[in-house]
Formats: sequence, structure tokens, C-alpha cells
Amino acid sequence: MKLLITGATVVTMNARRDVFRDAQVLIEDDTLVYVGPRAPRPKGLYEVLDARGHAVLPGLIHGHLHACQTLCRNHADGLALLDWLRERIWPFEAAHSHASLRASADLTFLELIRSGATAALDMGTVRHYDAVFASARDCGFRLTGGKAMMDAGQGVPSALRETAESSLAECRRLIDAWHGSSAGRLRYALAPRFVLSCSEALLRGVVALAKEKGVRIHTHASENATECQVVREKTGMDNVAYFHSLGLLGPQTTLAHCVWLTAQEQKLLKDSGTVVCHCPSANLKLASGFANIPELLDEGIPCALGADGAPCNNNLDMFVEMRLASLIHKPKAGPTAMSALSVLEMATLHGARALGLEKEIGSLEPGKKADLITVHLGGPHVTPAPQDVVSQLVYACQSRDVRDVLIDGRWVLKNRQVLTLNEAKVVAAAQGAQGV
Ligand SMILES: [Zn+2]
Repeated sequence: MKLLITGATVVTMNARRDVFRDAQVLIEDDTLVYVGPRAPRPKGLYEVLDARGHAVLPGLIHGHLHACQTLCRNHADGLALLDWLRERIWPFEAAHSHASLRASADLTFLELIRSGATAALDMGTVRHYDAVFASARDCGFRLTGGKAMMDAGQGVPSALRETAESSLAECRRLIDAWHGSSAGRLRYALAPRFVLSCSEALLRGVVALAKEKGVRIHTHASENATECQVVREKTGMDNVAYFHSLGLLGPQTTLAHCVWLTAQEQKLLKDSGTVVCHCPSANLKLASGFANIPELLDEGIPCALGADGAPCNNNLDMFVEMRLASLIHKPKAGPTAMSALSVLEMATLHGARALGLEKEIGSLEPGKKADLITVHLGGPHVTPAPQDVVSQLVYACQSRDVRDVLIDGRWVLKNRQVLTLNEAKVVAAAQGAQGV
């Protein structure tokens, strides 16, 4: 495919953070070949997209997500983390079939595409993860994900309980089946759920398998104060320090939340190059607390953004997460903290690092993958246009302003029509599968 986008305000997120007005973007197949000021029209047959009145920016990237939980949306309010997991989420995840998980994943990717997301780092339930990969394969979404790994812990339903050996064996099977497939759009990430549902043997096995296969590690850490206390009782160490003792930290690892960190743990994250994923809606709804993201960013720790699961949000909307991430830290850190640009960096560049794909996605630069979105800038809720389009995108725009979404050079949303999923069928199937 050859595609020429014209007339746009292009927010590149390149090293200079260039924003070009009346600019153009050229795409050949899955790759960006030109991003910059208007230039002579290229020779050859190009599909042309007129993007006047729109921003073009890198596709938004969820650094932490549970596509398996989307059918539990609106069914788990008013609980803190450990009760939320034991009373609602684990029984729900245990009841999934391959078909119900496929319905959940289709609904998830439909919502993500409509809200301008092009990639995500996902943690599944323990079984049937093939259904999530198959959904992403078919709808064109860029997914790095893996099954949840759970071989220990209180209140885990028997259908979710596995042994360390069987858990690692299932991951090997999934890696061989899916990692690098769909021209590299689908990738595997090992997903031990959290310290309280994983034996030390399992976590050591995860570290070894990640190294052997060259895949990422994706887990939760220090989300809730009670969780941190129980981790200390179980291991004799703070959560992140425990991960460090197992060799689990590093640039190949993404830790969701990190709300409750000691100064020593912050230093471990910084020194190891570990990626953090901030989930402001989830942290607020489960009353977990305020992650000290302004300080983590100041220290140079990459912090992605994510919606987490629908039952603790209850949307999967990166525009909501960007707005919250920018606003909730200001009362404590001051009005200049968490600028619009730093938040957009979280949703793009740092998100790419959360997936280990910083060389391929996260900015609009020649040679990178053609993952981009167009956002309408003319709605009454975003008018008048400011000098700073990034401010407009983060503080004023909403997901309903997303007009087009391109992933790996393929249109998945065009002129507000989802092209790769049958919207009515997906919503009906999700409704029918509800209460699995
Ligand atoms: Zn989570």
C-alpha cells in the first residue's frame, strides 16, 4: 500500500518533538517513509487522505491491560485490590471458555481502536490465551501479551491454579505458536500475576525462560499497601527488592502500578532500566493510592500509561488516562508537574518501551512502523485551537475525536468506521457471553 496523508498537524514525538503544520506523511506498506513539511507530491499511485483540521500522531499504547476482564465491566465496584481479586475477578477469569475469551478480546480491541490505541501489553487469564492472540491477529491490533501465571496464593480458584512446571510449559507452547507471528505484530510476554500468586520457583523459571526466548516480563508490583505488607511477610523483602533478588528487573520488564515504593526500590528501578506502567483510573477506583510518577519521571524511569482492566476503570480509553495522569498529581507536585507533553510521551514513547518496541513504534519517523491516528481538532469542546496542539490533545480532546487509525500500514478505523471488526456483532456476542 502507498498512502499520502496531507494537510495535517503532525505531532511526531521524534527526538526534537517536532510538530509540523500543514504537513504530510508518506507510507509504503507497513513503514513510514516521510514525515515533515508539505513537499512535492510523490510520483506513483498513492491513496491520499486529507487530514486538514486534524492532528496526526503516533498510535496510543496501553502499557498494562487485561483483555480477559472486559466482560466483567460494571460488575466489580466498591472493592479494594485483594477482595476485588478474590471475590470478583478470579472467579470470573476462572469461568472463561475459549469462546467467551474471544468475545472479551474482540470487545476490547474494538474499544481500543475506537479510542485511538494501536498497541497494548496484555495479561490474560490462566487459560485459553490463544483466543486473545487470534482476536488481535484478525482485527489487526498490535499485541504483546501472555497468559497469567499463578501457582500459589490464597483464594485462587482451582481452575486457575497450576504448577510452576505446567505454567512454564504452556508459555513455551504459546511462544512457539504466536511470538513474532503476523509479521511481528504479535509478541509474547511472560505474565506472572504478582508475588502473592507466584512461587519463587515459578518466578525464577520466568526469568530463565524470558532470557532463553528473548521475551518480555510483565507483572504487577506494589499496587496496594496491604499487598505490600503481605509480600514483606511472605518474602522478608519489599516487593521490588524481592524482584531484584530474583534477577527479574531490567529493561525487559514492565511493572504495573508501583504505587508504594521505598527510596531503595526507586533506585533499583532506575539502575536496572525497568519500565513502570501508571494506571491512574485503576489506582483511584481501587483506592490504591497515588504513584509518585512525577518523581519517577524526574529520575529518568520510563513510565507508560495503561487502563488496566475494565472492572477497575471502567473504560479502556487512553484519552481518559492521559487527562487523569496529567491532573491527579498536580495538587501535590504543583501545576507545572506532568505537563501535557510529558503525558503524551508516556502514552507513546514510554508505551513503546513497555512493549520493548521503541525502535519500531512510539513516534512518527521514517523507518518506523506505520502506526498512527488522526484526531479531529474542530469540535466545540476543543475550540479555540491553542498554540500548543499537544495541550489540546491531552487536556481537551476525547476519544470520540479519533477519526482514523492505521496499524502496521493497514486501516482499522477509517472515517470513524471500524473496518476489521463487525461492531454490532462484537457487542452482541459480548452481551451474550456476559456472566461467564
Ligand atoms: Zn492489572
